[in-house]
Amino acid sequence: MEQTLSIIKPDAVERNLVENIKNIFIKNNLNIKESKKIHISKEEASEFYKVHQSKSFYNDLCAYLSSGPIVVMILEGDNAIAANRKLMGATNPKDAEENTIRKLYGISIDKNSVHGSDSIDNAKKEIEFFFKD
Ligand code: UDP
Ligand code: MG
Repeated sequence: MEQTLSIIKPDAVERNLVENIKNIFIKNNLNIKESKKIHISKEEASEFYKVHQSKSFYNDLCAYLSSGPIVVMILEGDNAIAANRKLMGATNPKDAEENTIRKLYGISIDKNSVHGSDSIDNAKKEIEFFFKD
């Protein structure tokens, strides 16, 4: 069993897509072990996304993630990290495969509805970041 961190981003929470997205995980054998709705500060978003601090989009990305409520979840299942990335689809919804979350619900490369950890190491760090107790 592997664990990964998933975030439903502000654009999707705002459009009431939380249940639709959770159902995609459940139907695809990813168990939602923990889930909470929170609203983080820009400082927290900057800490969370610090791997991207050298990128041109970093400031906008952190402002965006802290712009409204998000839902953070621990997903658990076989190959959960890769399985979640596959369900999410490509970063840019325009390039995402049919029936992926980003193809179905993403608005643009920045408002792309979901985040998912990309490695075992980052999954551990990201889960720790939001669920340290
Ligand atoms: N992002 C952006 N502009 C870009 C590339 C990425 O706004 O040109 C945002 C996008 O929301 C993405 C996040 O930065 O989800 C993190 O980028 P990453 O390359 O890690 O993509 P992901 O792992 O989310 O597919
Ligand atoms: Mg990433």
